[in-house]
Amino acid sequence: MTQADCIFCRIIAGELPSRMVHQDEVCVAFHDINPQAPVHILVVPREHVASLDEATFERRELLGHLLLTAARVANAEGLTRKSSGYRTVINTGAGVGQSVFHLHLHVLGGRPMSWPPG
Ligand code: AMP
Repeated sequence: MTQADCIFCRIIAGELPSRMVHQDEVCVAFHDINPQAPVHILVVPREHVASLDEATFERRELLGHLLLTAARVANAEGLTRKSSGYRTVINTGAGVGQSVFHLHLHVLGGRPMSWPPG
């Protein structure tokens, strides 16, 4: 299912430009338009799922696929665990910063990061 008013659905459909770094049958990955680190990539399922809260148990394979793709993309960008490492983030709900309601993983790296996040 795609949603005509969803920015990520439109990117996946090729209606909006993006800097793609990965595409497969389940998901795509592209550079964030407003990067918060030297590397900031979004891993996005092709299927429109509004957030992690909408990802039911039946979608466990999809969720695993997204995580493994995040690791693959991070490593392809040179962010190995043994170098600087990387952070994966899923914002769920406007209260913690979700602004696009199509599930996505942020992959961030290339600079030191503190914990806890703000
Ligand atoms: P979130 O705030 O967790 O929902 O993350 C949404 C992310 O999508 C933000 O980091 C935005 O900068 C990013 N974003 C919004 N529009 C675009 C776009 N057209 N291309 C790439 N990234 C985008």
